[in-house]
Amino acid sequence: RRAAFAALRDVPPVTIDGHRVTVMVNAGLRDDAAALDLTGADGIGLFRTEFQFLVSATLPRRERQHRLYREVLEIAGTRPVVFRTIDIGGDKALPYLKVADAADEENPAMGWRALRLSLERDGLMKVQARALLEAAAGRTLNVMFPMVSEAWEFDEARALFEEQRGWLAGRGKRLPDHVRYGAMLEVPALAEQLDLLLPRLDFLSIGTNDLTQFLFAADRANPKLADRYDWLSSSILRFLRRVAAAATAAGVPIGVCGEMGGRPLEAMALIGVGIDRLSITPAAVGPIKAMIRSLDHGAIVAEMERLLARPPRDMRGALTAWAGERGV
Ligand code: PEP
Ligand code: MG
Repeated sequence: RRAAFAALRDVPPVTIDGHRVTVMVNAGLRDDAAALDLTGADGIGLFRTEFQFLVSATLPRRERQHRLYREVLEIAGTRPVVFRTIDIGGDKALPYLKVADAADEENPAMGWRALRLSLERDGLMKVQARALLEAAAGRTLNVMFPMVSEAWEFDEARALFEEQRGWLAGRGKRLPDHVRYGAMLEVPALAEQLDLLLPRLDFLSIGTNDLTQFLFAADRANPKLADRYDWLSSSILRFLRRVAAAATAAGVPIGVCGEMGGRPLEAMALIGVGIDRLSITPAAVGPIKAMIRSLDHGAIVAEMERLLARPPRDMRGALTAWAGERGV
């Protein structure tokens, strides 16, 4: 099977009825970028910039950040890279940076982390903004913000980047040709502000790891709950379908960058509810491409429509049977 997946490296993820799906990889360190060539993925859909901070003994200064981003962009070449601004704080505390004390927070996942922290300690994000803007000189910079909960948070984060862009321009620095700004949808509340936010978004990326723990109020790291709520539940799939429809109607590209997209049955369901961009762990690219190439897009869309209208309790069982009958 492994050889069969490797053979898929150079074939595009297209369904049997000709529907193209974008399959990208998640990465976090420089060496992860090599996965692009190994898998033949369409780009890096989630570059977790906090990894550099987490593996470093001291705060990575702007030059070090800049060097990493530059190297990743060079490896990617013409393929897009989506840089997520740092998602630290909460349980990802940094010993050298007194930003948050995990022990002070009862619920670190719902605590002072990600964009919440970045907007308050904006010195960190300003440095990162300059590093990213300079690293992407002469090309397109894709930036996305984690844990956006209300539209104004996205606006503030984008304004901070634009301010830094102006600052660098004033000093005659070479800048990106385009900057595209996206939000992660991983806090359910943001779904209620999409009409406000979509007109200003260049793309939307759903972080299903955090989103599902917040939708079900179930800690993603608690093994006691691991089997209790399924990604293939009608609540999650209906939620995703609604968000996908809103984004698509507004002409905003929508994708999933959580682990859900790296599982064939889950990815099939995502495509069925209108999500055509997946960013997944590199090892999953082969199996996901194989699934897509055996799938009839029109048929899965119709089947998800049918199943979500009157959801069976065992959605996983129903989808497994459907896929089995059709050789997906
Ligand atoms: C997510 O929450 O789904 C996500 C992609 O971000 P992370 O796993 O880094 O929290
Ligand atoms: Mg997340």
